[in-house]
Amino acid sequence: MFQFELVVTESCNMNCEYCYMANQKSSMTTDVFEDHFEYLPTILKLYNEDSYALTFFGGEPLMNWELIDYVLSVIAWDPKCKHKMMPTNGLLLTNDKYNYLRSYDVNISLSYDGLWQKEMPDILNWHSEPISPKCMISPERTTSLKENYKHFLELGIPSPDFALVRDDVWTIENSIKLDRELTELANAVIETNKRGTPSFPGIFSLPMMDSVAGKQQGKRHFSCFAGHHGLGFMPDGKVYACARFGSDRLKPIFDSAAKKIDSALNFGFFRDPDIHGLKNNETCKRCNLYTFCNGGCTFSQTGGYKAEPLDNLCRIFKRCYHESFRIMNELKGTPEFKKIIKNMLEKFN
Ligand code: SF4
Ligand code: SF4
Repeated sequence: MFQFELVVTESCNMNCEYCYMANQKSSMTTDVFEDHFEYLPTILKLYNEDSYALTFFGGEPLMNWELIDYVLSVIAWDPKCKHKMMPTNGLLLTNDKYNYLRSYDVNISLSYDGLWQKEMPDILNWHSEPISPKCMISPERTTSLKENYKHFLELGIPSPDFALVRDDVWTIENSIKLDRELTELANAVIETNKRGTPSFPGIFSLPMMDSVAGKQQGKRHFSCFAGHHGLGFMPDGKVYACARFGSDRLKPIFDSAAKKIDSALNFGFFRDPDIHGLKNNETCKRCNLYTFCNGGCTFSQTGGYKAEPLDNLCRIFKRCYHESFRIMNELKGTPEFKKIIKNMLEKFN
């Protein structure tokens, strides 16, 4: 499905060191949204898609609540919109706003850094259902994965998402430092599952999912949605491959106000199989993860022009796959694990 990544604001009330957005002041107006929304059917046609998934993106999207409110009143009537979601740091998320978003079926993903974060989102005090938080693992934060995991278990969140910063920021030294942490985290995950609590943190469940998908469908020909089956719609009225390309004003593809393809070259660039995905890359062809691994972030990998794997990041990918396979091996007989694999297989059939 086409990913309609609507960057409602580039501002944020935090300043996380790993964030790729530039934390600029610009916010989307209703006029700019109208331009994007009017042009969306043309874009969908170009991508040969008839439906889309909307993401309210930022910066911190809640910093432009008025626009979110307006967009929901418009989109609620659009049968082409099949899914809505909003990643947020949660600091501005009140009970009323949460209920309002849920009344429009907006799925909320909390980017909350567990024990690494100074200010905690209020939602943790009043929300009774488990929420899915995302903790970033950057070179500055390679320690205490296990402690963070335990903290989430205490909060009733057995499958938090530990996500790697997929950039050229990893040195060989800090990637080695992460090895032991990942092994300890995997051990704790195995133990939790064996005690009867199903637990599959993102850092391991994604490689599991990619290996199931790779076995079923063969090597994927794209890394992420950027420009391939989704786009970032920015507050300045331009459309880029994703919010990250938009934040750097790199390779604009469309101009919604002008209602024309801004640069045919950039549209073609993101459809090129040598740019997206690493299917034709010689290093990947020699790697034993070739069928499963889809590489990292298209922005950091292309370096502007050609997809190349990033050595030290590949080393971490290999460790994550190794630990994921170990978890699968340890848990393969348990009913919960069988259920998880069955769900994954159903998803890809
Ligand atoms: S780990 Fe690196 S070399 Fe191996 S398939 Fe993934 S991106 Fe390619
Ligand atoms: S290129 Fe892909 S992975 Fe990188 S920021 Fe954009 S959408 Fe995310």
